[in-house]
Amino acid sequence: MTTSTSIDRPDRPERSTGDAAGRSADHATGSAPAAPDAERPISLTATGGIDRASHHRLDEAWLAAAWSHPTTRVFVVSGGQALIEDKEDGTTELVMMPSFDAPFTEAHRYFLGTDEDGVRYFALQKDTLPGRMDDIARPAGLREAGVLLSDRDSELMTHAIGLENWQRTHRFCSRCGERTAIAAAGHVRRCSACGAEHYPRTDPAVIMLVTDEQDRALLGRQVHWPEGRFSTLAGFVEPGESLEAAVRREVAEEAGVAVGPVAYVGSQPWPFPSSLMLGFMARATRPDIQVDGDEIEEARWFSRDDLRAAIESGEVLPPSGISIAARLVERWYGRPLPQPRHHG
Ligand SMILES: [Zn+2]
Repeated sequence: MTTSTSIDRPDRPERSTGDAAGRSADHATGSAPAAPDAERPISLTATGGIDRASHHRLDEAWLAAAWSHPTTRVFVVSGGQALIEDKEDGTTELVMMPSFDAPFTEAHRYFLGTDEDGVRYFALQKDTLPGRMDDIARPAGLREAGVLLSDRDSELMTHAIGLENWQRTHRFCSRCGERTAIAAAGHVRRCSACGAEHYPRTDPAVIMLVTDEQDRALLGRQVHWPEGRFSTLAGFVEPGESLEAAVRREVAEEAGVAVGPVAYVGSQPWPFPSSLMLGFMARATRPDIQVDGDEIEEARWFSRDDLRAAIESGEVLPPSGISIAARLVERWYGRPLPQPRHHG
């Protein structure tokens, strides 16, 4: 019951903006939501066109040549942040530099891959982000940058931040306790004492939108969330457990609802610090709610009309932004969620 309390769920309050243009259009019509299209894919597995080219990671000569190539681009990650910059055309980019401008230390260099034009990308893990003379660039974490950056930049940053989280917390060998060293261009840590190789960790977590016989959606709120925030339930997969079993267990633990059929719909890397969110639609077989009161303080069944009215009145703040929770709710709702009419 407490295993999922530490999941940093993808629906933080700072993500409460979203696609204002699309939503206000929806808002203006006031029409009933279209029937949900169960086949509509969730675009979370879309990539930004980066080939990770992992076969180069152990090739020091290739890496050295790639690093010094004039078209190579480098960005710095530090403490889960990178520098981003708003452009005049309204887009936002990762601040990248050629490698000859980069503060190189081999011990903190990650090779991230190449794009279709043959450009090679590296990230450097540093204790601080580099200073800039102008005020245009600013440090940002993935929660902010993820909705602003292009697919390519977002993919690069997610990869680098995931590696950084792992590198910073796995400096010692979990087998013998000796210090480990970075290898494979950031994708391995090696222990010189016992020879163990350690690979980046990814922790699977399930996140699910549960519906009942009337096609209402089950949304809950965590104890520590801001007033009105409701979202999908989520939790970590336990050892020896299938994803389907984890969905059923978490929904039963958090909301007391029994779940039958479970269908996978998409995934989302969530490197805060190392989760992979696996999204499901699930059907309740017994809809009676009994929240655990510990992690989840309230859970409710919402029809689409209920949810629209609650959001528009400001009573409910739905998940939004880059989160898979928002995509799951929208998938059920059948279109982008309405915007709140009032704040607070
Ligand atoms: Zn060791």
